[in-house]
Amino acid sequence: MSEVNLVLRSTRVITPEGTRPATVAVADGKIAAVLPYEAEVPAGARLEDFGDDVLLPGIVDTHVHVNDPGRTEWEGFWTATRAAAAGGITTLVDMPLNSLPPTTTVENLRVKQEVAASKAHIDVGFWGGALPDNVKDLGPLHEAGVLGFKAFLSPSGVEEFPELDSQQLERSLAEIAGFDGLMIIHAEDPHELDAAPHLTGPKYADYLATRPRVSENTAIEGLIAAAKRIGARVHILHLSSSDALPLIAAAKREGVRLTVETCPHYLTLTAEEVPDGASEFKCCPPIREAANQDLLWAALADGTIDCVVTDHSPSTVDLKTEDFATAWGGISGLQLSLPAMWTEARKRGHSLEDVVRWMSAATANLVGLTQKGAIEAGRDADFAVLAPDETFTVDPAELQHRNRVTAYAGKTLHGVVKSTWLRGERIQHDGAIAEPTGRLLERNN
Ligand SMILES: [Zn+2]
Repeated sequence: MSEVNLVLRSTRVITPEGTRPATVAVADGKIAAVLPYEAEVPAGARLEDFGDDVLLPGIVDTHVHVNDPGRTEWEGFWTATRAAAAGGITTLVDMPLNSLPPTTTVENLRVKQEVAASKAHIDVGFWGGALPDNVKDLGPLHEAGVLGFKAFLSPSGVEEFPELDSQQLERSLAEIAGFDGLMIIHAEDPHELDAAPHLTGPKYADYLATRPRVSENTAIEGLIAAAKRIGARVHILHLSSSDALPLIAAAKREGVRLTVETCPHYLTLTAEEVPDGASEFKCCPPIREAANQDLLWAALADGTIDCVVTDHSPSTVDLKTEDFATAWGGISGLQLSLPAMWTEARKRGHSLEDVVRWMSAATANLVGLTQKGAIEAGRDADFAVLAPDETFTVDPAELQHRNRVTAYAGKTLHGVVKSTWLRGERIQHDGAIAEPTGRLLERNN
């Protein structure tokens, strides 16, 4: 075994068994041991003592749109991974669309990996995409190491990434189930969206009416039926409608291989507070009412919802127009997801351990990255150091993502990320970010 070269100490280390004073020994970028607080520091090892600041496993964000190459003016690997490092995120998984090319063939995956390789400040994995015409590419993409496949049931917002109709969905699901892969789905039903009022303009209530809960509920009902029929693993992306929770809970009880994520913006922002014309709050499905949000929190608490991811999906500022119908739909939350979640969680009586479970352990588990997501021997030495009781007010000028638009501007949040560590190296310290050392991740066997 290689020698311990780094020792991290805190009175509050979040481990799978709970939070306790501990000393974490690191060798070769991996956690060698989690020792008692008073453990002796091996000769030659560097000691970092964080006092009462919390040492937690680096956040694993499995839903990020990086857009690089092709729409790098929206977001790129350089800026996105710097924002992530600043926010305590040590692994992100890039969505297959909004970049050009999209990640829908092995050749396209290689293009993306090459672009990401020199710019990644944190570890980066990739989702593949399932399109109407690329069923033959799914197996090769799986072999090439993508972590699963994304599909839409309604228009995606970009023309090079068309949605699947129900027959195409069945075909892709069956293909992916054939190699026991994971299919992740944007669940809004196109017929219900068509049937909704087609309102335009700056009023948020009008926008909300264009994407009603029933479009999510109907899509999820169909997906559960398809997952059951085919025996496929299905993951529901960015759940917003709380009406779908009973369906999901029942399917899980029945043993359907179903997992569900939601996002900080659905859990911390409400429709009632969105100012008219403020399209930095626009996303699909939309941010809904406060009563809906309470039910999402209850579902996280009881395990009906498995995990929390950002769905960071920026665009250039000019596309965020005041008309909700035509503005780009996507919220930029990468750097703020941990403090935003912690701020609301603590108000609602949840612990930081809960937040870490939803944003690191459960997401690492979703994509099978067994080397991530926990502070325990054998895992990668990826950490965030958080001062949970310190507060800050969100100033867009201090954000690292490319276009400094944010729905969180002016909010005072709890939890300052003091430093971020990737495989035993400090990659962020008081906002200063080191040169990129992130690696490209592939599916574990
Ligand atoms: Zn997304």
